[in-house]
Amino acid sequence: LVSLRGVRKAFGNIEVLRGVDLNVAKGEVVAIIGPSGSGKSTILRTVNGLTPVDHGVITVGDITVTDPKVDKVALRHRVGMVFQQYNLFPHKTVLENVAMAPIQVLGEPRRHVEERAKHLLAGMRLPEKALSYPGELSGGQQQRVAIARALCMQPEVILFDEVTAALDPEMVKEVLSAVRKVAEDGMTCILVTHEMRFAREAANCVYFTDKGVIVEQGEPKAFFTNPQDPRTKEFLDKVL
Ligand code: ATP
Ligand code: MG
Repeated sequence: LVSLRGVRKAFGNIEVLRGVDLNVAKGEVVAIIGPSGSGKSTILRTVNGLTPVDHGVITVGDITVTDPKVDKVALRHRVGMVFQQYNLFPHKTVLENVAMAPIQVLGEPRRHVEERAKHLLAGMRLPEKALSYPGELSGGQQQRVAIARALCMQPEVILFDEVTAALDPEMVKEVLSAVRKVAEDGMTCILVTHEMRFAREAANCVYFTDKGVIVEQGEPKAFFTNPQDPRTKEFLDKVL
């Protein structure tokens, strides 16, 4: 469903991605791990077209993201993204935050979208918060609203970039179980995470990035118990 081929990206004269290949099948959950600055967020941002690439080809379904004439609206519809900072609109209710994009971007009827949004909020265990404002919610609850917002666009893939990194420890768990639920419901997911246990339990495949290249990839159990590359070993020794 998602494919990156030989993706290169430089900022100024610093090459941040130096030939990245990545494949995600429909329904698959891929975790990307690696040191700070290794290019993980940049990879995600190239997939939804936020960061244009210098070389290489990226496709999502039948959309070629790297085509200069790509339909940005279609791309935003297909590829959802959840960030570390939830970026909810503070002056809109939770329900409005979740329902807004499908109404405004896709032109779907409000009643229909709000029905779906309420259902998603219930799925995120937030049904009673629909009419609250983001400021009245905990960080973990706000992040679950952000996940519901991404789901409400009914994308084909969702990118999660360190969605628990800004949260207090006691909220990490509830957000990780929300992400896991999204994955178990069959959504194709690419997640950048520092939560190694979560990567191991939730992902079908783990990619390790270092200095703009994919050093190693594999099925989680083998990856974590028997890494092959010395750079992977060194990283895992530090974080596990
Ligand atoms: P972290 O774990 O800290 O989030 P990361 O693996 O997500 O790191 P990226 O955010 O992809 O790393 O950044 C990779 C490199 O690219 C870093 O050196 C960063 O400073 C640089 N970089 C990212 N975005 C830009 C930008 N818009 N302009 C210039 N440099 C950038
Ligand atoms: Mg990052």
